[in-house]
Amino acid sequence: MDGALNENDISHVVEADRAHVWHHLIQHKPFETTDPRIIIEGKGMRVWDQKGKEHLDAVSGGVWTVNVGYGRESIAKAVYDQLIKLNYFAGSAGSIPGALFSEKLLDKMPGMSRVYYCNSGSEANEKAFKMVRQIAHKRYGGKKHKILYRHRDYHGTTISCLSAGGQEERNAQYGPYTPGFIEVPHCLEYRAQPDFTGGNYGEWAANQIEEVILREGPDTVGALCLEPVTAGGGVITPPEGYWERVQEICKKYDILLHIDEVVCGVGRTGVWFGYQNYGVKPDMVTMAKGVASGYAAIACLVTTEEVFEMFKDDASDPMNYFRDISTFGGCTAGPAAALENMRIIEDENLLDNTLAMGERMMGNLHALAEKHAVIGDVRGKGLFCGAELVASRDTREPADEKKVQAVVGDCMAQGVVIGATNRSVPGYNNTLCFSPALIATADDIDQITDAVDQALGRVF
Ligand code: PLP
Repeated sequence: MDGALNENDISHVVEADRAHVWHHLIQHKPFETTDPRIIIEGKGMRVWDQKGKEHLDAVSGGVWTVNVGYGRESIAKAVYDQLIKLNYFAGSAGSIPGALFSEKLLDKMPGMSRVYYCNSGSEANEKAFKMVRQIAHKRYGGKKHKILYRHRDYHGTTISCLSAGGQEERNAQYGPYTPGFIEVPHCLEYRAQPDFTGGNYGEWAANQIEEVILREGPDTVGALCLEPVTAGGGVITPPEGYWERVQEICKKYDILLHIDEVVCGVGRTGVWFGYQNYGVKPDMVTMAKGVASGYAAIACLVTTEEVFEMFKDDASDPMNYFRDISTFGGCTAGPAAALENMRIIEDENLLDNTLAMGERMMGNLHALAEKHAVIGDVRGKGLFCGAELVASRDTREPADEKKVQAVVGDCMAQGVVIGATNRSVPGYNNTLCFSPALIATADDIDQITDAVDQALGRVF
């Protein structure tokens, strides 16, 4: 780490942080008596804090974002060059990086046709929900307006996204929610619902969606919104046969399939988009995080030509367009960063690396499961892996949440940042989460799982 800040500068930053910053996702009372952690610098897979301590980042910036790793000068330069040429222009005018990135992106998404720019995953999902509602008004007299979402999935932090959010721990205390969002059951085979009595769980779990559609009335359901692999809900990989059946159901009832690729998108699972693992044809895809690896804010809502056509088919109707704007969806830094991010993934063969390193990570986690009975289930796709911790393999009762956090803390003390999902949901799964940058090497993967091995040994 370079020593650009001296000790006085650093203690000033620490005090300013403690005094003025309202941090995401933490309780501030206990934080008052602990040392804030300021991350000063990052390079490749590693970051350094204000004390000069090195951390191997196994969660890509904490929330599955920094897919190409830290310190990418070529992305910083692409953004700089673009910003001094033109930083911003909104509305119907185009921009060079906006046009070129959409062309490149669609090249990776056969069957998809249009890119709508905005800033965050939540915003992209909101816009998809708005499109569904507008289509319901335009085509179905407002009737086909309901949006189905799945238990344990997460689609963002706004009130509508939380209305479509299947994680009770995130939703508590922010209601009342927006009407018209309906939950369908999760598809975590390890925690199959009690009424599953055998057979193919994937098909059974998808059939539960059909049951909800029939209960609600197919003529009232406009869209189904799903993560390809559920992220924060516990790294839930879909069971065999699930997606095929989901696709059939959507077709049968004329329901738009909206896939949330905010985490899985742009290489995380070893293919460009998570849905491509399952041969699915979506109508709408949303993405954010890894699109520019955190070098600039950018999110996209991508639709088929068919969806796009519904908003332009009758120009004599002055209301017939998507009446929506995103101020910073006109900022050029996002697509400039995204273009270079995608070039890096291609030129450095990071999809292949993701598959190879994902396999290594899964192998290491399975080996840990043989050694530590607290690991009840191992799940993953590409460099997106989870190890669910249980108090007992027989009962599958979740491991004590405080101990799960102690494992995360122990790894942190060893200089390895890992994640854990599903805090504070009584009776639900506590899953250690690993999503290193797509540049991870075999040594990095081994260092991560060695740290977990030691932490599990000490905590359980
Ligand atoms: N969708 C998924 C699957 C996510 O995991 C997240 C954030 O973690 C979001 C949407 C929301 O994205 P953002 O935080 O950029 O609004």
